[in-house]
Amino acid sequence: MAKFQAIRGTKDILPQEIQYWQFIHKKISNLLECANYQEIRTPIFENSDLYDRGIGKDTDIVNKEMYRFYDRSNRDVTLRPEGTAGIVRAFIENQMSYHNSLQRLWYSGPMFRYERPQSGRQRQFHQLGIEFLGSVDARADSEVIHLAISIFDNLGLKDLKLDLNSIGKVEDRHIYQAKLQDYLKTYHDELDLDSQKRLINNPIRILDSKHKHTQKILTGAPKISDFLSLSSQKHFDTVCNYLKLLNIPYNINHNLVRGLDYYNDTAFEIKTLTSKSQDTVCGGGRYDSLVRQLGGVATPAVGCAIGLERLLLLAKEKIDLPDRYLDFYIATQGEKANKVGMRLMQILHQKFFTIEIDMGSNNFGKQIKQANKKKAIACVIIGNEEIEQGIVTIKWLANQKQENMKMTQFVNKTSYLKKKILFYKSLKSY
Ligand code: ATP
Ligand code: MG
Repeated sequence: MAKFQAIRGTKDILPQEIQYWQFIHKKISNLLECANYQEIRTPIFENSDLYDRGIGKDTDIVNKEMYRFYDRSNRDVTLRPEGTAGIVRAFIENQMSYHNSLQRLWYSGPMFRYERPQSGRQRQFHQLGIEFLGSVDARADSEVIHLAISIFDNLGLKDLKLDLNSIGKVEDRHIYQAKLQDYLKTYHDELDLDSQKRLINNPIRILDSKHKHTQKILTGAPKISDFLSLSSQKHFDTVCNYLKLLNIPYNINHNLVRGLDYYNDTAFEIKTLTSKSQDTVCGGGRYDSLVRQLGGVATPAVGCAIGLERLLLLAKEKIDLPDRYLDFYIATQGEKANKVGMRLMQILHQKFFTIEIDMGSNNFGKQIKQANKKKAIACVIIGNEEIEQGIVTIKWLANQKQENMKMTQFVNKTSYLKKKILFYKSLKSY
């Protein structure tokens, strides 16, 4: 029979690897909770219409990358390609603004895009996102940028750069788009094929082209910064000033546009300087029109999303995982001892000791070897003798010292045992 394989562009995260995921998850959630951001979890699939309207029909995501299908009741549904649209849907549906006019939220979970898989680019990947709904203040943009930067800082990642731009309001962009289109039309035949297509549907996205010759043509193109309204210009300057105040270096990049239609004003990306491909580890910006566009009361918002696979590619080598160890490895021999061992396993577990019970029917020598292999601090030995006398033998593996204890004593001396474990653990680390 043909072997089953994970679907192209998806990956198993095995136990060895998951430790890194748990490590960064803990670090980041701590950091965000300290800034009073609350976690939100929305469904993994939504009505496709949410993304058509929320992300925009002329975007690559909606046109080419969505996992879109009809369910058994013929509903047009999509596996979420990003988190913001779902959160805005939840914000409106649950009348979250009614309870609190400012919502500081974060999320983390799998996203799905049908793309060409390569390092740092998968079809199921994970994003961690921050969304701040309810404020037009430039301080909100700066707070979100500060949070994104501190996530990387906290993980010891240094070789990064923050690119910043303002893409103005929708109206500014319409005027600019027409000018850009006029300019690029004169170079139509020289543009790469993708850009030729975008020239009609979504010319601003051409600014994002990685194609060398297209980039060269773009150097002479009109700049969005010359088309910003006064209020957009002021907002952008204020964000820049706050970033200076917070000592967050940034680089203004006039060609930075976001792939999604719903952004306005601030757009930003955090890039790694250490890898050339898939170098964007975080993308974000302001999206003041999305809530209204999805049927809610107009609510300004700003947010960003970090690609966790890309983050981990950079962070893994900086993470020093704590050693995994067991407090007790329970070794038993004989039917009676097996029963006592099982009961002991339950009691120790309920007391939050880290434990494992041996499941082979090996002699004690082999079981103790296993205990060492599993980095146990102590092996609890229960054989015939122990059963007869109602005791357990504790073998402290660091120095092979043994002690006997009445079973009833053993299960009640929690603080004595915890202290001893701490002591032996400290011996192990030297
Ligand atoms: P790219 O230009 O690399 O395709 P994007 O602009 O499509 O990125 P966003 O929609 O802004 O990306 O998503 C935010 C972040 O999520 C990206 O900066 C990246 O780190 C990560 N990301 C996006 N698509 C993928 C993917 N297919 N696989 C892994 N990570 C991804
Ligand atoms: Mg993309």
